[in-house]
Order: sequence, then structure tokens, then C-alpha cells
Amino acid sequence: MPLVSMRQLLDEAAKGGYGVGAFNVNDMEQIQAIMGAAKETNSPVIIQASRGARAFAQDKYLFHLILAAAELNPEIPIAMHQDHGNSFETCKSAIELGYTSVMMDGSLKEDGKTPASFEENVAVTKRVVEFAHERGVTVEGEIGVLGGVEDGHGAGGTGLEHVTDPDQAVEFAELTGVDALAIAIGTSHGAYKFTKKPDGSVLKMDVLIAIHKRLPNTHLVMHGSSSVPKDLQDVINKYGGKLKETWGVPVEEIQLGIRNGVRKINVDTDNRLAMTGAIRKVLWEQPEKFDPRDYMKPAREAMQKVVAQRMTQFGQAGHAGDYKAVSIVEIAKGYKDGSLKTKPLVAAK
Ligand SMILES: [Zn+2]
Repeated sequence: MPLVSMRQLLDEAAKGGYGVGAFNVNDMEQIQAIMGAAKETNSPVIIQASRGARAFAQDKYLFHLILAAAELNPEIPIAMHQDHGNSFETCKSAIELGYTSVMMDGSLKEDGKTPASFEENVAVTKRVVEFAHERGVTVEGEIGVLGGVEDGHGAGGTGLEHVTDPDQAVEFAELTGVDALAIAIGTSHGAYKFTKKPDGSVLKMDVLIAIHKRLPNTHLVMHGSSSVPKDLQDVINKYGGKLKETWGVPVEEIQLGIRNGVRKINVDTDNRLAMTGAIRKVLWEQPEKFDPRDYMKPAREAMQKVVAQRMTQFGQAGHAGDYKAVSIVEIAKGYKDGSLKTKPLVAAK
């Protein structure tokens, strides 16, 4: 299957009532781990690259690795997504390279650190939507500001300083025409999300539910949604690592989100933990080893296991064969004739 539009993938997920994991990649082994899991569970998948990943791997290497994944797995719908674009230019370069989806994170200024005004966010996101939709490419925007920092991108903090205001979310969706919307409900990037197990009083699920009621056609996105499981932390610490005790977003909270309009769930930290733990184990137990394959193979397997588990938990497992890819050209026509326009439902507050 050629790379598919993320909009098609998320529309299908909404129809089927499930969520789709968006997994970050920087190298070949991570792409293979994701595709191994997608094949194993028969799942559609979103593969995403941050600006940091694009710089680390170089655009051409990363993009061609993903094309190889599509070529080798014709039965799996794959959307290729730019994670946290910081400017119109970043998104434009991803679209010109062949990404089928971009995130314009206008919640922060171009430095990727300073919160931007609502007006600035609307202006830059709208510009990206116009450019992207003409080319059949999906756009995710962000309203409210997420906590933490990932790959040098983020405002820091706990994620509760700038929780999304539902009125603003509706206005933002109407003004920009985004397909998907990342909202801030208390999640944050990185491994250190919570210092105790979070429950409904920590994550603002009521805000999420309120936004979904009023924007039923805009796919909601949960960022910073690794679960940071204790067993993965333990492996790292057992073999010489020094992680401080920490909690991520419990899978049950994500599943509650999925029942209330969350269609894309970003997961990066869990995969990093799984790979690093596997590498540490080999090097700790067998210090004579020096062939990278001796530790990259178990690292890849450890990541595949986590990804397959998330695919099952999010509900995307079993859905790879539900639909055929609609070409990007057809999708572009849909945006042009208005049939793919997302219409916010104006409901009582
Ligand atoms: Zn994010």
C-alpha cells in the first residue's frame, strides 16, 4: 500500500471506535520494530518523525526507510507524519518530501519553547492547512500547551499550566480547519510525567470530554502518552541505569480518551525505555560483546513487543485490512469541494 493520508486513517478509526498509536522513529531498527508489530497484530499505523529525528537520521535516509516499510508491507496502511512542526517552513519541507501528514504546533513560537498567542497560533496553522490540504496532506494542530520537553521541543512544566479551554478549541478548529487537534489535559513529554500514579483528578478527562462533545468531527490527539511501565524502568535500573521513580499515563486513561474522541496517541518514551533496557542487559551480562547486532536485535524485539501491546490496547489491532488507500490526489479533491471539511458541532456549553 502506498503511504496513506492520516485523515483517512483517523476517519476509519473514528468509524471503528478505536485509537491509533503514533510511534516516533529515528532509525531503521525502530521502523522495523513498528512494522513487525503492525504485521503481527494486523494494524494500521502512524509513523512519525520529529525535527530532531529528521536532523539525526537525515531526511532522505528516514523517508526512504519508511518507503521500504510500505513496499515490504503492502497490506498495512501507513501514514507518515511530521511530529511538532515549529514553523510553516518545517511543515512545507515535510510535505515536499512526501509526508502524508504534518503537525503544526503553533501553541509555541518558532523557538519551540515560548508559548504563542492564540492569534499567532491560528495564523500559522491556517497557513499550513491551506498549503497541506491543496496537496491532500493532513494537518494536526495544537491548542493549549503541553508540559515537558521532547527532543528540545516544549515549554517545560507539568502540563497543567496551560490546559486547553474548550471554547478556544472550538474557535481554533473553526478558524483553521485542522483535521486533528492535540489538546493539553495534563500530559507532558518525556519519562518524568508524574511523581505519583495519576488518576482522574490529575488528568483533565472532563476537558477532553467537553471538547469532543463540541468537536465530534475533529480527531483528538493525546501527546506525551507513554505509560512508562515499571517493568521497563526496572530493566534499565537492574543493569546499571539510574532512572528516578516515575509514572506515565495509565493505559486505562488513554482508553477512556479513545471512548471520547481520541484517535491518535503519541508514544515515544516507552519504546526508548524498552530498547535501552534490552541494550543494557546484553552489555551488562555479556561485556565481551561488541557486534552491534548482538544488542540491536534484542532492542528491536523489545520495542516490537511494546508497540504490539499498545496496538492491541488502543484497539487498532485487526483493522489493517478494513479499507483501501484513497490517493492523496483524491483526498485533495475532497478538501477542495468541501466534502472533507470538518464541521464543528455547535452544542450547548
Ligand atoms: Zn508531542
